[in-house]
Amino acid sequence: MRSRPSPRRLALLGATGSIGRQVCDLVEQHPNRFALHALVAGSDAAALEAVAQRHPEAHALLANPTGGDPDEAARAIEDMMRDPEVDVVVIAAAGSAALAPTMAALEAGKDIALATKEVLVMAGELVRDRMRRHGSQIFPIDSEHSAIWQCLWGEKEQAVRRLILTGSGGPFLRRPLETLTSVTIAEALAHPRWKMGPKITVDSATMMNKGLEVIEAHFLFDVPYNAIDVIVHPQSVVHSMVEFVDGSIKAQLGIPDMHLPIAVALGFPDRLEGVTTAPDLAALGQLSFEALDTDRYPAVALAREAGERGGTAPAVLNGANEEAVALFLQGQRRFDDIVPSVRRAVEAAPLAEDLTLTAVVAADRWARAHVRAPVDRASRVRSKLPA
Ligand code: MG
Repeated sequence: MRSRPSPRRLALLGATGSIGRQVCDLVEQHPNRFALHALVAGSDAAALEAVAQRHPEAHALLANPTGGDPDEAARAIEDMMRDPEVDVVVIAAAGSAALAPTMAALEAGKDIALATKEVLVMAGELVRDRMRRHGSQIFPIDSEHSAIWQCLWGEKEQAVRRLILTGSGGPFLRRPLETLTSVTIAEALAHPRWKMGPKITVDSATMMNKGLEVIEAHFLFDVPYNAIDVIVHPQSVVHSMVEFVDGSIKAQLGIPDMHLPIAVALGFPDRLEGVTTAPDLAALGQLSFEALDTDRYPAVALAREAGERGGTAPAVLNGANEEAVALFLQGQRRFDDIVPSVRRAVEAAPLAEDLTLTAVVAADRWARAHVRAPVDRASRVRSKLPA
C-alpha cells in the first residue's frame, strides 16, 4: 500500500491578486495535496481578511499595513519566506515588490512557483546564481513558460533549437495604428482572451508583456536571446512551443485559464485531475498564427535589446515600464507614450558595472524617477500657478 504524502505547505505572496485567488481555489480543491502556511498581500487588509477567513490555519501578513512600519513588515515577510514549515513559496505579487521576498526564499533553499516575471527580468542573473548555490528550483506559472517547460519534459538540452512564445496581440491587434493615440484606460483593460490584473493587462496591450517574457524565458531555460522567437496567435490556445534540432515542434494547448499552469507548477511531477476542460478543437475550428508586427509592438524588440545588453538594463526597462503603466492607469500618460518613455529611460540609463541586488534596486529607482520626471515637473509648475 502506498502511504499518502503529507500536503505541500505553501507561502503565498500576492494572496489577494488574480493568481493568488486561483492558487487558493486549487488548495481548496486539493486539501490532501496542498496547505496554506502563509498569506501575504500588499495593502488591502479587507481583501486579505476575506482570504484568511477561508484559511484560518495560515499566517496572514500585509506588506504595507496602514499606519504600520513597512521595514518591519518587510522583515516579517522575508522571515516567513524562510520558515522551515514552508515547502514551496508561490510568488504572485505584482511587479518589483516581489524581488526581495523571492531572494530571501531562494537563499533559504526554497522551491519557488513563480508567477511574477518581473523578478527574473530585474535580477535574472542573481536569481539563477542563488538557485544554483542553494539548490532551489523555479516552477514557472506564466502560461507560456509553463507550456515550454512541459514541452521540454523528457528532452535533452542539446536537442532544443529554439523557443517560440505565443502572444494574442491583446485588444489592439487590428486597431488602426494612428488611433492608438486615443486609447482609453477601459479599452486597454479589455483583454480579448485573458482575465488578469491591470498591470499585466496593459502590458499585454503594448506587448511589453511578451518582451518581458522573452527575458524571463532566457533566464528560466538558459537559452540565448537569438533562439527565442515570438509569434502572434490570437486564439491563445497554443500557449507556446519548442522547436527541436530535427525540425519537430512541440506545443502545449489549453483553454486560457491560469488554474492550469498553477496546477502544473504546484502539482509537479503529477498532473491533477480535472483542473480545466480541454479545448474543444472541432468547435474552435481554426487556430491561426501571424508574424509579429514590429511597428505596432516595438516593446518586444526594446525588451530584447535590454536583455541582450544585460547588467541592469532589464531592471531599468522593467522599472520604467511599471512606472509608465501606473501613470497611464492614473490618466497621466497616453497609452502610446508608454513604450517610448520606457525606451528613453533605457537609452539614458547609466550602466552599472557589477550586477548586485543594490545595483538592481538603484536602477529600478532611477528608471521610475526618469519616467516620472515630466509629470513631477508639470505638477511643480501647476502648483506655482495661481488658482
Ligand atoms: Mg504570460
